Amino acid sequence: MSKRDYYDVLGVDRQAEADDLKKAYRKLAMKYHPDRNPDDKDAEHKFKELNEAYEVLKDEQKRAAYDRFGHAAFEGGGPGQGAGFGGFGGFADIFEEMFGEVMGGGRRGGGGRSSNRGADLRYTMDISLEDAFAGKKATIHIPTSVICDTCSGSGAKDGTQAKACGTCGGLGRVRAQQGFFTIERTCPTCNGQGKVIADPCGACSGSGRVRRDKTLEVTIPAGVEDGTRIRLAGEGEAGLRGGPPGDLYIFLSVAAHRLFHREGANIHCRVPIPMTTGALGGAIEVPSIDGARAKVTIPAGTQTGTQFRLRGKGMSVLRSPARGDMFIQAVVETPMNLTKKQRELLESFAKEAGDDSTSPESHGFFKKVKEFFEDLTD
Ligand SMILES: [Zn+2]
Ligand SMILES: [Zn+2]
Repeated sequence: MSKRDYYDVLGVDRQAEADDLKKAYRKLAMKYHPDRNPDDKDAEHKFKELNEAYEVLKDEQKRAAYDRFGHAAFEGGGPGQGAGFGGFGGFADIFEEMFGEVMGGGRRGGGGRSSNRGADLRYTMDISLEDAFAGKKATIHIPTSVICDTCSGSGAKDGTQAKACGTCGGLGRVRAQQGFFTIERTCPTCNGQGKVIADPCGACSGSGRVRRDKTLEVTIPAGVEDGTRIRLAGEGEAGLRGGPPGDLYIFLSVAAHRLFHREGANIHCRVPIPMTTGALGGAIEVPSIDGARAKVTIPAGTQTGTQFRLRGKGMSVLRSPARGDMFIQAVVETPMNLTKKQRELLESFAKEAGDDSTSPESHGFFKKVKEFFEDLTD
């Protein structure tokens, strides 16, 4: 079941001030309160929904998170998990410097909310480890709001202009005397905009923006990690009536690989080695993340667990020409399904071996076993 927008639940617009929220909440809470609506399931549901919406919107931090990511801000799952409401600081916010300033998306400061600013959007992109290694250009489609072509975002019908609001004289706020106090509040006529549109644009009903799918080319640089967040300043929803646009956040999810295990810039890979190669030595060929093959020399007497390091064959490093290393872990395989001839050869090998000097691990192990029993008899 899809959840209703919290602002819709409260019946206020996205720019509503704390006072307006409180008022709207009180009014609806009275209306749907269970005491007034005994045995009314619908009212009960609405009352719950109302409380949930108000819990979020009355808290500045939660409201900011909701404005950015909608209900997803409070749901588990995806890379956003665990980051909590206010701070998305858990993510590698590497692109803040790259795009943030360069693109100049009209970034607002922590506290102030630009009332006309478009909403931020979140997009989760699944990529492979190969993509994370090499980087990638991707074309994405996002349902969003764009500036209305008809009125160029002004919201006013062609040939007309927004006029200064008569109620507040263009200030966006009105004062009212209440007992001894003068109370200032958002102008109800213009909703704090200071301007009213007498003749709204027909294409966008005066909002200055229309719903549309936007297609974007996104460059994922080489070396990104699972959970990396890319911010594209100004690529979120268009602002209301010419207000600044929101930002687009791309959350990267790097899929697990069938051969390689990544640890930071390094790659680990378990490679099976025939028992004979382990004993006699030889060369094996292993694949690397760049799609090439690398030769690894196996010295005679290689055991399971022996690690070989291939310098510079690991992952690419973000914003650096460097590469991590690749670690090959040998897994020496015991032969199975022997032919008669193979069995005979191994039997004669076993006779020839005699003591356990050809098996260094056993040699050490049985020495310890002997000492263990000797200690017991002391
Ligand atoms: Zn328009
Ligand atoms: Zn006004």
